[in-house]
Amino acid sequence: MNMRFIDLHCDTMTRKGDVPFADWTGHVTPDKLRRGGALAQCFALFILTREPELRKPDDMPPHAIFERCFEIYRRELGIHSQTLSSALSVADITANARRGYISSILTVEDAVALEGNLEYLDDWFAKGVRMATLLWNYENELGFPHSREAARMGLGLKPFGKDVVRRMNELGIIIDVSHLSDGGVRDVAELSRKPFVASHSCARALCDHSRCLSDDLLRLIGESGGVIGVNFFGIFLRRDSEVTLIEDIVRHVLHIRDKAGIGALAFGSDFDGISSRLEFDDYSGMPLLAAALERYLPPREMDMICSGNALRVMREVWGA
Ligand SMILES: [Zn+2]
Repeated sequence: MNMRFIDLHCDTMTRKGDVPFADWTGHVTPDKLRRGGALAQCFALFILTREPELRKPDDMPPHAIFERCFEIYRRELGIHSQTLSSALSVADITANARRGYISSILTVEDAVALEGNLEYLDDWFAKGVRMATLLWNYENELGFPHSREAARMGLGLKPFGKDVVRRMNELGIIIDVSHLSDGGVRDVAELSRKPFVASHSCARALCDHSRCLSDDLLRLIGESGGVIGVNFFGIFLRRDSEVTLIEDIVRHVLHIRDKAGIGALAFGSDFDGISSRLEFDDYSGMPLLAAALERYLPPREMDMICSGNALRVMREVWGA
């Protein structure tokens, strides 16, 4: 079966920066998306900052980093308009596919770029942002990241984080809890009136890393109607693994299906943000992953994990 994929997270735009796609040797390029069978790719503007304690007065402010990344994204979409077309709705994704284009979905990794201003969120939406992580691996104005320390891991959202959750619901921006503390995820589950996602996370029961999600949290995301995009980073799939093996991704998929249900599964490759060597190289190898999963999942479930579940969440959060 020739599957079409929706991948909920890659860091390509930030990682390659000003390097044109023609010279980019990373996991994701328009050509590799085409060869791999992409239906839609979420491109995160990753707001790469220093740890809060190490920030210097002349560092570029997070909001300016957002603007700079956004310009790179817009430029690339312009250059590759023969292949990629922006999608702001599920109707756009369908129309793009019909016309032979791969949909490009704009997302943000780390709402530190809001700098505590709720109005920036409206600007993001106007610019086409349709999903955002509340934070990355550092504390920000919204809350606290995952941690090995139980007390820190239990910390919930700050008041501004709760305001952002409510406003994202109103605007129709998908809330992404990857990188968040367990307490923060519970707060989102309680507050959000819409499905929410972990765009690029794996199962902690199979790989004991604080970036991975406990069975309870997997269940909460599933119950919200949201999805978990399985991350392809070796160290999130198997403890200390420097390679990404297809069989490890399959194990996480089957575990999440067991704990949160088949409706809670998607892919969140983290391409161009991960350093492990991949058994299937890069995006162009996605059909190899699908072929392995087909041995365990019937066609209807393959369709759900490859694109159907992600489309359902998008429809519910974005509207039509
Ligand atoms: Zn990430």
